[in-house]
Amino acid sequence: MESMPELPEVETIVRELNREVLGRAFFDVWTDFPKMIKKPKSFDQFRKEIKGKKILNIGRRGKNILFELSENRSLLIHQKLTGHLLLGKWQFLNGNWQSLIPGPLSEDPMNKFLHLIFWLDDKRQLALSDLRKFAKVELLNKEELEKELKSLGPEPLERDFSFEKFKGQILKKKGKIKQVLMDQEVIAGIGNIYSDEILWQAKVNPFKEIKKLSDEEMKKIYEAMKEILKKAIAARGESISDFRRITGEKGGFDPLRKVYRREGEKCPRCGAIIKRIKIGGRSAHFCPQCQKL
Ligand SMILES: [Zn+2]
Repeated sequence: MESMPELPEVETIVRELNREVLGRAFFDVWTDFPKMIKKPKSFDQFRKEIKGKKILNIGRRGKNILFELSENRSLLIHQKLTGHLLLGKWQFLNGNWQSLIPGPLSEDPMNKFLHLIFWLDDKRQLALSDLRKFAKVELLNKEELEKELKSLGPEPLERDFSFEKFKGQILKKKGKIKQVLMDQEVIAGIGNIYSDEILWQAKVNPFKEIKKLSDEEMKKIYEAMKEILKKAIAARGESISDFRRITGEKGGFDPLRKVYRREGEKCPRCGAIIKRIKIGGRSAHFCPQCQKL
């Protein structure tokens, strides 16, 4: 079972990259899966265009990693289901890319599915390990980038994302609260892991219809959302699945997880057994006792 990197995992990558690769330039790029590059359509063109571009800043919008490059270009990487960026040095040996750096980059199997490698001008490489190869990579100009991000909802951790704004966004949609929280047009960056954790903390059932939520429940969801996302960023993300930091190390949110993938275990608040129920192709994990419908 896989879980897509969400806001805290992407933010972790972005912060770590900003500390390491600002001011560096792309020297070259390799892939064994050119379909991953969506723009420009041909990998040869992508390669030609990215060479020599300097990294001015790295940001995040929702689950997208955005490299601001010289000459008004942007490199957008959406890691999708199983992708994560790694920074290191690899060498092609005996038909495989092998890490020259000992530790998790060499040892953790999740760091070995390298399908895209950028060479930087300081001889280090930025690699995308992606088991399922769903990641999306695009080299865009300003207008294309704006168009690409246009439909995304607000950033939940922006200071001006008030409770009133949150409520306004939520009430635009019909349906069950878990699905609405994961809708990227409502709020950007929340997925399966953190919607479960937020709703557990707020004591709201994931299947509760938006129109049946009280103001107090919405307030609790809003507060839990800010608190849990911040806590997860501080812990550097959740690595129960394949997400890793750019060093290849795991994030530290796992022990802080209360319900996500804990079905059959006891609720840490009341002791009832945590349930898992399918909701629109995803699974909701919740406590049937403290998150009553
Ligand atoms: Zn409980």
